[in-house]
Parts: sequence; C-alpha cells; structure tokens
Amino acid sequence: MATVVIVGRKNVGKSTLFNRLTGRRISVVYKEPGVTRDRVCGEINWRGRTFDLIDTGGFYPDESDNLTSQINRQIDYGIKEADIVLFVVDGRIGLHPVDEEIAGRLRKANKRIILLVNKIDRNQDIGRANDFTALGFEKVFPISAEGGFGLGDVMETIHDNMPGTKTIRRTNKINIVILGRPNSGKSTLLNSMIKKDRAIVDERPGTTRDLVTAEFSFEGKNFQIVDTCGLRRISRVRESVEFYAVVRSLRAINAADIAVLLFDVT
Ligand code: GDP
Ligand code: MG
Repeated sequence: MATVVIVGRKNVGKSTLFNRLTGRRISVVYKEPGVTRDRVCGEINWRGRTFDLIDTGGFYPDESDNLTSQINRQIDYGIKEADIVLFVVDGRIGLHPVDEEIAGRLRKANKRIILLVNKIDRNQDIGRANDFTALGFEKVFPISAEGGFGLGDVMETIHDNMPGTKTIRRTNKINIVILGRPNSGKSTLLNSMIKKDRAIVDERPGTTRDLVTAEFSFEGKNFQIVDTCGLRRISRVRESVEFYAVVRSLRAINAADIAVLLFDVT
C-alpha cells in the first residue's frame, strides 16, 4: 500500500486537508485526549488504488513557528515513510522562511513532492500560488482545503505518481495480528506457534522495529501471523520512530482477519 504524507508548517491547513481527503472513508481513528484531537492516519481508496494518508502535523499540536529539531525529525521520518509527500503552504500569507527550510529538506529526499498552495478560496486568488514557484518544485497546485477547490487534481496527481502497480496477490491465508504491550510475550507466543526463532526483535527503546511476519499451516489451513512488537499508548509516544511503529501496527490491524490481544497476567 502506498503512503502519502502531509507536511508543512503550522496553520497552513494540513489537518483540514487531511479531513477533507479522508472524509467518512477514514478507517483508523486514533484519539487520545491531551495529545491531539486530530486524526493522524487514514486509508483512502481512489480509482481502485488504496493509499494511507498521514498528517504528520496532527501528531504535534504544539508545533512552533520556528522549525524545532523535533519538527525536523517529524518531517524527516515523514519523508522516509512516504512514497509521495504533500507539502502544504499558506497562499494567503505567502512565502514564509519556514516554507523554504522545509522545501530544502524535501529537495534532498528523492521522493515525489506535490506542492499545494492552500487557502486559495476564490478564483481571483489563484495568482498568489505563483509566489511559491520560487521554492523550485515542478508544479504548484492552488487548492482550498476548506472549500474543496483543486482537490480533484491533487487526487489525480497522487494516483499518477503512485509507485509501480503491484497486483495484490489474493491468498487464502488467514491473517493474524498479535497485539499487546511491550514485554507481554508476543514474540515468545509467535515463536512457540511457528516453532522457530523467527520473531527475534531488538528490544532497545527508540529503535525502529519493523513488523515481524511468519507463515504456518495448521490442520490444512494457511496462516500469516504478524507480531506488532508492542503498541504503545499514543500519549507516551514522543518520538517519530515510535509514531510510525504505531502507524504500522494500525495498518497490520486493518489487514488482519483475527487480532490476538495478549496480556501479562503478572
Ligand atoms: P494545520 O496546523 O496545518 O493542521 O492547519 P489547520 O488545518 O488546523 O488549519 C489552520 C487554519 O486554517 C484553520 O483556522 C482552518 O480553518 C484554516 N484553513 C484551512 N484550510 C483553509 C482554506 O482552504 N481556506 C481558508 N480560508 N482557511 C483555511
Ligand atoms: Mg494540524
């Protein structure tokens, strides 16, 4: 599944765009009071292709106007995860020094960048988008996240820039995902079920841990099992690495037929 990540400085309209594009089709809602009221991850189907949309800003409600190191990391991890980056700027305010800084970071990454000039609410404002050609991207898309103007073109462009179509192999496998807090015994359970040391994970906090997948057969049925390596309470998630670990786990849950939730009785 392709991943599309929304980046940009605060108040440019990232969350508005996210909500507008995901609409009611959103399949994952992550709400935890005190952290952010914004949803951060949604699945979109468009003309037979599916992609994940991630609002990086939704995760840091207190992002400042200066580009703090935390936001730098947020953007860098966002880029790493992304197949396509939606870079949002504010067409009413015009070019802002932080836009230039973000643009610099994006240019270094070898990713598809789509520059969206937001808050172009009226036809006569379209010219304002030209301010942003100075950022050096191929094309500038004037949009109104609130009004919906230009979003059809954005969806088309995302669609056209999606990474090579892989035909999804329809298997008769039953997908199982193992969930539980860190150290509840998920990896041990997986190892016992498949009887080989497949689920060895690096338990150091803060390291990127990919999902561990294994396949096995039981009584004539084929299973695929995924160890999520521990879903942390999102309010404790402070680092982008962990944020994306959570995003990956949410995806695995989406794809699963059966979710096994493991508790540590001690
Ligand atoms: P974020 O910080 O980038 O997520 O920005 P938000 O989505 O929270 O939006 C910041 C402000 O800009 C809010 O007051 C929105 O209502 C406003 N806004 C977002 N999109 C548009 C738009 O297309 N036109 C106008 N006029 N305002 C917008
Ligand atoms: Mg936001």
